[in-house]
Amino acid sequence: MVNTRTPLIAGNWKLNLDHLQAIAFVQKLAWSLSDAKHDPSTVEVAVFPPFTDIRSVQTLVAADKLPIAYGAQDVSEHESGAYTGEISATFLRALECGYVIVGHSERRTLHNETDEQIAGKVAAAVAQNVVPVICVGETSDDLEKHGPSAVPVAQLKVALSKISSTADIVVAYEPVWAIGSGQAATPEQAENVAAALREVIRETLGDDVAQKTRILYGGSVKANNIAGFMREPNVDGALVGGASLDLNEFSSIVRYQK
Ligand code: PGA
Repeated sequence: MVNTRTPLIAGNWKLNLDHLQAIAFVQKLAWSLSDAKHDPSTVEVAVFPPFTDIRSVQTLVAADKLPIAYGAQDVSEHESGAYTGEISATFLRALECGYVIVGHSERRTLHNETDEQIAGKVAAAVAQNVVPVICVGETSDDLEKHGPSAVPVAQLKVALSKISSTADIVVAYEPVWAIGSGQAATPEQAENVAAALREVIRETLGDDVAQKTRILYGGSVKANNIAGFMREPNVDGALVGGASLDLNEFSSIVRYQK
């Protein structure tokens, strides 16, 4: 079957760049993309700033009609109520967020997020037409004990358990051992897990969703290794952490050549 998925290069800023820095960065990124005659129909670019930046990014993107998508790094599974510190998917929709990262390994480990909670967040995002970027991945311990795809597959099965077959989702395979370590997975490793994850989507949400869902690789993606990942048939883009904060590096990743 022909692959019609538009590649997605997504920058996860984590706890970096305040709203003024975000404006400067997004402006420069837009200039760099237009200098390079970037065509958003061939590669989609998205940034994931901290919550406090999103309104500024929205204003800039809307005013200048920039070809840059954006989203939040987390969302509440709740709609409203007594949940101090939480942000709902409705609020993200009101700021025209196209995406939200859900279940990043830093949320799973530092904030003890469970697979069940992550499934609730995925459902909350989907209900508001905010596309969840569902992160899954194994630790090096998991890798040793269970092999490469068992843990990400199990995580994804739960994450998809509360949505229906019409859902628009993105999946990011991010081995925990590769995040911020400078030691990326090999393209073959990423492809094998991505293929297993696509099979989970097929079993859970059907063939159409499996065919159209983009599966990203994340973990120490840089300008000098992106092309190898993008050559793999089941890898449709990258979720980039550290390198997304360096304008030249991130622009080069966006302009990868297979
Ligand atoms: P990294 O982070 O690119 O710095 O490894 C990826 C991520 O955490 O999404």
